[in-house]
Amino acid sequence: MERIGFIGLGIMGVPMAGHIMGAGYSLSVFNRTKAKASGLADKGAAVLDTPAEVAKASDIIIVMVSDTPDVEQVLFGEGGVHDALEPGKVVIDMSTISAEATRSFYAKIAGKGASLLDAPVSGGEIGAINAALTIMVGGDEAVFNRCTPLLNTMGKTVTYMGPSGAGQACKMCNQVLLIGSLMGICEGFLLASKEGLDINRFIDVVSGGAAASAQLKICGEKIARRDFSPGFLMDLLAKDLEIVHQAQRANKLFSPVTALGTQIVKSVQAQDGGGRLGTQAMMLSFEKLSSHEI
Ligand code: NAP
Repeated sequence: MERIGFIGLGIMGVPMAGHIMGAGYSLSVFNRTKAKASGLADKGAAVLDTPAEVAKASDIIIVMVSDTPDVEQVLFGEGGVHDALEPGKVVIDMSTISAEATRSFYAKIAGKGASLLDAPVSGGEIGAINAALTIMVGGDEAVFNRCTPLLNTMGKTVTYMGPSGAGQACKMCNQVLLIGSLMGICEGFLLASKEGLDINRFIDVVSGGAAASAQLKICGEKIARRDFSPGFLMDLLAKDLEIVHQAQRANKLFSPVTALGTQIVKSVQAQDGGGRLGTQAMMLSFEKLSSHEI
């Protein structure tokens, strides 16, 4: 079996790495905050000190960190993955980052005879815990085929989208659908509450109809419990929308959903600690601006 490395043990990385070990692969890990690796160390993962050490010990290196500059640092910074790359090694970046930057990272990695797949995910913390992620992949198709069994340990749907950057392009478009859905849920909940409807019963009813969605399932139910803890951090959604905006601007597109969604996300970030709440905390801004708590 190929030796796997995993860099970035946050909300998503820990359960994803756990599934890889569960499938029988040997795993080396790196996390900037070492303490977060302790659960995986207990299960037998080797906890190493730099991304380069992980890359040296692995055939396939997965990266799951926050943003484009973070991926760049982990790959090409001091003690980065690039230092230890050799022909035949594969890097799979599962973070959500810029498609354009991804293509430049791909070229640099190809310069070492190694290969980069971009493989961002959708499905949230629950999808990561249940190994039910949707994984959208860009890069060389032969490398994708080699990595499919590994990706299948974390995902329910693993789809090849095209050359380098195509996975990130797909994920960026996914986020437009997501923000529209989330805004609709918050606005609908507000009106339902004002009309005196029971929110849990409302969710049950509409979940059986044409307005059902994954966002309603994941975020709607958390809102009803007033659980605003992060599965997907508001700050990370803001980062995703900035990536979307850049592409929309470059393509000169009409983009009212992303524009409004970005403003609402900013209004939550402006609240004390708002950026570290989950995306469902968008409800708090709808409530505040309507002087009504559901
Ligand atoms: P998270 O809980 O905030 O974890 C981020 C991870 O990245 C942490 O392990 C962090 O290390 C590491 N990291 C960040 N910057 C770094 C740097 N410069 N150098 C080294 N390590 C760095 O985030 P997450 O929710 O797991 O999300 C990870 C990625 O998946 C993001 O791109 C996000 O947009 C995407 N995503 C998330 C979800 C979701 O529902 N959560 C869904 C789909 C996609 P420390 O522990 O030291 O901070």
